[in-house]
Amino acid sequence: MQTIIEPFRIKSVEPIRLTTREERASILEAAHYNLFDVRSEDVMIDLLTDSGTAAMSADQWGGVMRGDESYAGSPSYERFEAAVKALMPFEHVIPTHQGRAAERILMGLVGGAGRVIPSNTHFDTTRANIEATGAEARDLVHADGLDPALDRPFKGNMDLDRLEALLDARAADVPLVLCTITNNSGGGQPVSMANLEGIGALCRRYDVPFVLDACRFAENAYFIKQREPGYADTSVEAIVREMFSHADGMTMSAKKDGLVNMGGWIALNDDAWAEAARNQLILTEGFPTYGGLSGRDLEAIAIGLQEVVREDYLNYRIASTQYLGDALTDRGIPIVQPVGGHAVYVDAKAFLPHIPPLHYPGQSLAVALFLAGGIRGCEIGSVMFGKQPDGSEAPAAMELVRLAIPRRVYTQSHIDYVIECFEEVQAQKEQLPGYRITKEPPQLRHFTAHFAPRDA
Ligand SMILES: *Cc1c(COP(=O)(O)O)cnc(C)c1O
Repeated sequence: MQTIIEPFRIKSVEPIRLTTREERASILEAAHYNLFDVRSEDVMIDLLTDSGTAAMSADQWGGVMRGDESYAGSPSYERFEAAVKALMPFEHVIPTHQGRAAERILMGLVGGAGRVIPSNTHFDTTRANIEATGAEARDLVHADGLDPALDRPFKGNMDLDRLEALLDARAADVPLVLCTITNNSGGGQPVSMANLEGIGALCRRYDVPFVLDACRFAENAYFIKQREPGYADTSVEAIVREMFSHADGMTMSAKKDGLVNMGGWIALNDDAWAEAARNQLILTEGFPTYGGLSGRDLEAIAIGLQEVVREDYLNYRIASTQYLGDALTDRGIPIVQPVGGHAVYVDAKAFLPHIPPLHYPGQSLAVALFLAGGIRGCEIGSVMFGKQPDGSEAPAAMELVRLAIPRRVYTQSHIDYVIECFEEVQAQKEQLPGYRITKEPPQLRHFTAHFAPRDA
């Protein structure tokens, strides 16, 4: 069959409030053209992020009722720990309230001035938690991963030559090597098994631990099954176990491939690191059997981990992201190739060449999509990255609009509607204005800046 159906029925619904173009125009004006300032009830299709936005299954909601809220020794923790270890056979599993809490604890143990922690591409919270300790976060993604138009199967791969050179020169300063699967900041691109094996071998040669930032491990495993020779007949679960067999530990945001709205963990083999991590956990997150989560959250993660590796789910997940990417490509709308696991990234600089980078073509496209159909995407370009530490402005490397797809939330007709909105925007794209910033905070300006359209 050609049609890949959503492998679920809908039991509980959330209404979407349908708005008119006139309403959306006044919503935009009231929000100063900043989509972070729009109330979610005023959004029709919310593609701002795939983090914490998944729909839970009936089984997960059943698990929520079963959650045991005992302070210590909860059976919910035991079920959570067993579910993690079934896929990621590490010795110690330490729950945290979300991914960045796991990062803060781990980097607090191993970071510090003079240290350098390499990764393919550090996610922004990972980088911030490394830099907060005084250590350097270094990106060593393969050059293929930096070319948006290049179609390669594993653009998340680490450059093993550069990793080897770093370890050769400074292994004593490298407390661990990270790798992000899939490479979120690089467009959700996967890392191959061969690359994970290569990183693991280098780490063993230089006696440096290897830790996976594993938020989208199931999507990465499915790409390996689809794209890497030799894995077509291997089960996703076996691929996942093989991926983690190359590593000594992991950090996780369960808000992604945990299929839940909140949660995370650290898993480690090293006894001394695990003990130190648990001591830190007690200071800020909680007792080691709940770590900032409720028993019911641990139950939902335990069940989510079983559901996320099902092949019918992953086939639907990867195909539905691809469906949107292919439809935009067919209409001549430039996107980052190939389509990643969790999002489609539109190249706004190529789509709107009449808008110079510092007039924010990504912001212009994001606003136009909201006006056309109440769609909320996220500018990842000069609004987000253009402000320099000295207060000046410089264009970012790329001007993108990310359309992140929440897990199990939208159906094909929602995505068809998004595609139709793109057609409308495309038909009048020459008329879209650039924007200027009328008010901005000193840091992380994209969240709260005010914008005004420039005269077209
Ligand atoms: C989301 C994310 C994190 C941080 O997790 P939170 O749960 O948002 O704190 C870390 N790394 C990657 C790759 C992520 O996508």
